[in-house]
Amino acid sequence: MKIHEYQARDLLASYAIPVPAGKVITSVEEAAGAFKSATSGQASPLAVVKAQVFAGGRGKAGFVKLVKTAADAETAARFMFTNRMKSPQTPPEGLEVKKLLVADGVDIMARPSGGNEEFYLAITTDRKTRRNVLIASREGGVEIETIAHERPEAIIKEPLHPVLGLQSYQARNVAERLGLKGKHLGQAADVMMKLARVFIEKDCSIAEINPLVLAKDAANPEGRVIAIDAKFTFDDNGTFRHKDIEAMFDPTEENPAELKAKKFGLSYVALDGNIGCLVNGAGLAMATMDIIKLHGGEPANFLDVGGGATEEAVTEAFSIILSDPAVKGILVNIFGGIMRCDIIAQGIINAATKYKNADGTTGFKVPLVVRLEGTNVDAGRALLTEAKAKLPTLSAATDLTDAAKKVCAAVG
Ligand code: GDP
Ligand code: MN
Repeated sequence: MKIHEYQARDLLASYAIPVPAGKVITSVEEAAGAFKSATSGQASPLAVVKAQVFAGGRGKAGFVKLVKTAADAETAARFMFTNRMKSPQTPPEGLEVKKLLVADGVDIMARPSGGNEEFYLAITTDRKTRRNVLIASREGGVEIETIAHERPEAIIKEPLHPVLGLQSYQARNVAERLGLKGKHLGQAADVMMKLARVFIEKDCSIAEINPLVLAKDAANPEGRVIAIDAKFTFDDNGTFRHKDIEAMFDPTEENPAELKAKKFGLSYVALDGNIGCLVNGAGLAMATMDIIKLHGGEPANFLDVGGGATEEAVTEAFSIILSDPAVKGILVNIFGGIMRCDIIAQGIINAATKYKNADGTTGFKVPLVVRLEGTNVDAGRALLTEAKAKLPTLSAATDLTDAAKKVCAAVG
């Protein structure tokens, strides 16, 4: 589960990590007022207007704007509400912006060596070492992925002890390697320790601050460490024990098909290809996607209907898969263990026969290749062969390779 930047800032603030104050708005009319409250009492007002979407790269796309007047805040807000945010992290058509954060703008200090005092900080799990790891870089701000790729030596990785977590000596050591000194070093190390606590306590899979900056203000003429953008991803298997995190869930930012799948207990992930997959078991679903690719096709989704593969589950799964207009064919791959293949075959046939098309007609139109294996498989296949009369696009496969070849050929 992901959350918005403004929610991430609240979470950081609740751990006493410094973040600038801000306000969320949902209309252009609120922009001027939000600007005034974000900058009240400032001699030279500066605010930042930021699109709240589940993707980064906003700065370069023009969806993070520094503004000095209420009128400019309004102009920025109008632009963001009426254009879709497009960046390398969004789908090609971009994302609709429904909320903006208008926050106090900070005065980021310049680095004597050039550039600004912007740092990258994150905690995540490193699958290679099977440990949590603190990742930090002096090259914070935008495009950390590019830096990691082109200059990996600019990225610091500090593994966390499996039981003890991040140790304060490690945090200070990393802060020092980031080039921080004196008071700033202590402040940055403190942020790292707190971020490590959020990561564990809230079951995060990623806790990221980018950038963490050195900023000057009237009260801190020598600058202080402050977080101005953050991103969190939570492990879905852990959210049930964090009501506060669950409450931040924003269904309007989620893929509607994935949401519907969740409601019916199906695990569904939309992908870019044109072959829909309906499989029972996550491992089998992965293998199915692999074999489709091996035979030159592109899977349109990952879908695990779970152990049951009942007629109801298959019906829902079909409607979710076919809600993606890119889908040109479906491969059903079911292993009948506890559930017998003949019952599953009948369920698939019923679901396909009753399926309601967008034009009001019933009955499957896209090519449907079914591969069944397991208990009572012969009876199951016989049913599929019989059903051919009512379902002309249906074909039964003899094995998984045959199924993959058939469905790839069917979609062209
Ligand atoms: P992202 O591009 O989606 O990651 O959005 P960020 O919130 O990280 O902003 C991108 C960049 O805008 C930052 O790296 C900063 O350089 C700049 N920026 C954002 N907020 C402020 C601010 O309050 N003051 C200043 N001076 N720059 C800011
Ligand atoms: Mn950022």
